[in-house]
Amino acid sequence: MSIQVLKPKFQIEECLQEIRQCLERGWTGMGFKTVEFEAAWREYTKHKNAFFLNSNTAGLHLAVKILKMQNGWQDGDEIISTPITFVSSNHAILYENLHVTFADVDEYLCLDPEDIARKINDRTRAVMFVGYGGRVGRLDQVIDLCKKHGLKLILDAAHMAGTTVNGVFPGTWDGVDVAVYSFQAVKNLPTGDSGMICFADDECDRLARQLAWLGINKDTYARSNAGAYKWKYDVDYLGYKYNGNAIMAAIALVQLKYLDADNARRREIAAMYQKGFENNPRIRIIGAPYADECAYHIYELIVPDREGLLSYLAEHDVFGGVHYRDNTDYKMYRYAQGTCPRAAEVSKHLITMPLHMWLTDDDVNRVIELVNSYVR
Ligand SMILES: *Cc1c(COP(=O)(O)O)cnc(C)c1O
Repeated sequence: MSIQVLKPKFQIEECLQEIRQCLERGWTGMGFKTVEFEAAWREYTKHKNAFFLNSNTAGLHLAVKILKMQNGWQDGDEIISTPITFVSSNHAILYENLHVTFADVDEYLCLDPEDIARKINDRTRAVMFVGYGGRVGRLDQVIDLCKKHGLKLILDAAHMAGTTVNGVFPGTWDGVDVAVYSFQAVKNLPTGDSGMICFADDECDRLARQLAWLGINKDTYARSNAGAYKWKYDVDYLGYKYNGNAIMAAIALVQLKYLDADNARRREIAAMYQKGFENNPRIRIIGAPYADECAYHIYELIVPDREGLLSYLAEHDVFGGVHYRDNTDYKMYRYAQGTCPRAAEVSKHLITMPLHMWLTDDDVNRVIELVNSYVR
């Protein structure tokens, strides 16, 4: 049996039952299950606001757009972000004609507060922090820095569904203006494509709902539930079609019930890897603060010959992966090449180990043996 790097596990019968409710009711769009899932997510995370979207990417765009609107930022103003991420985090900044200033990563592969401090200037407006691999990194220090300099903080929590610190979701910490989660097909809480935006501020949440629905000032669900169909609405903004739908929410409602157990299994596998590799001097392990509460979306190693190891594993029917390249290698962001030396170096050596719900302990041990027999 081959071992894949990522493979989602769905509670198929339960998901089908939830989806069936949507089909029977004849409501598959925004509303119904989306409202139910928003309530469940608020209950689970203790976020005050939660709005269900068709992706995290859409959510990051709305986060940047709404903070720009509400705070009077100008085109060309800067947001400090990380080069080690999926491009969504950085594209979201460009969508709004803002400039991405890259800061380097620390040993957790999260933004390094010291390098952020060096890169703040009088046009800096916000920090885009990615909780990389589910890790919280030094988010607490970044929050302090943002407060000190009057910057907004956007948390790309795509990897953080279930990550807590002393039982609290970091996205709910004072000083995080908005947290955006992803429920994309291979994330910790997989659906097909969907995400959640959680603003600390109620007015921002209201704006997110309106802007995700073309800028219309009443959504169809609210109108249809008003009894008599209230057809008359106004359009206040050039909005988007970013809302999530009831089918995705139906899947999410089921998967949420299994998230904590799934994340516990992820931590178990991460601990096995940790133990399997910690005595290999040629392998660098990426630690996690509060490791016993980390959602471990991905588990990566830093190895000398990444391409060689990938091929070796593939020859043995084990498929590792490479997740994110230093974004300053991409044409879009090449202007920043050389500004984040640690990210540039690490990016050439990062390999993603298999980590998902289908792995048995024997599978994990087989991966460990193969890696240790190649990297020595
Ligand atoms: C997956 C991911 C995204 C995008 O999420 P979508 O829901 O697919 O739009 C953004 N940032 C990071 C770090 C991701 O891993």
